[in-house]
Amino acid sequence: MKALYPGSFDPLTNGHLDLIKRASRLFGEIIVAVISNPSKTPTFSLDRRVEHITEATKEINGVEIITFDGLTVKCAEKHKVDVILRGLRAMSDFEYELQIAHTNRSLDSAFETVFLATEAHHSFLSSSVVKEVARFQGETKHMVPEIVAKDLKRVFN
Ligand code: ADP
Repeated sequence: MKALYPGSFDPLTNGHLDLIKRASRLFGEIIVAVISNPSKTPTFSLDRRVEHITEATKEINGVEIITFDGLTVKCAEKHKVDVILRGLRAMSDFEYELQIAHTNRSLDSAFETVFLATEAHHSFLSSSVVKEVARFQGETKHMVPEIVAKDLKRVFN
């Protein structure tokens, strides 16, 4: 099976990485799709986000990294995936994720959204929390892959 894991990944955290590892075992193939959303100004460029993911996932089998803009279902159609993968950290993610999953199914019912529950010890992690810590020179080594921790220091110091 092939899964599409769409997200901003601005930047990739250990929570995202954990989900990618587990999904690659579950599905065999996983496409990490980095959203280029021109209406949001990201901290890291699209190319840099792709570099982070490429470096951090180089030892995981079956991972492909792409960029896309527009609708997730169009990307899912183009890459002929079987499922769309999203992560759930807490109840607070649920409402939003359910709305997106229903929207995607209303656009193309061929795709199921599959949710994986975050490992408990990663459930507090989000890209914005990590950036907030880095902004105030806090240590992020235990929250993100090494390449991302270095880049956060470079951007926020
Ligand atoms: P988006 O802007 O699309 O929400 P994110 O990069 O924030 O993109 O998240 C992409 C996906 O990864 C979402 O399904 C989100 O719930 C999930 N995710 C975010 N943080 C974690 C984490 N710590 N553990 C597991 N999944 C996570």
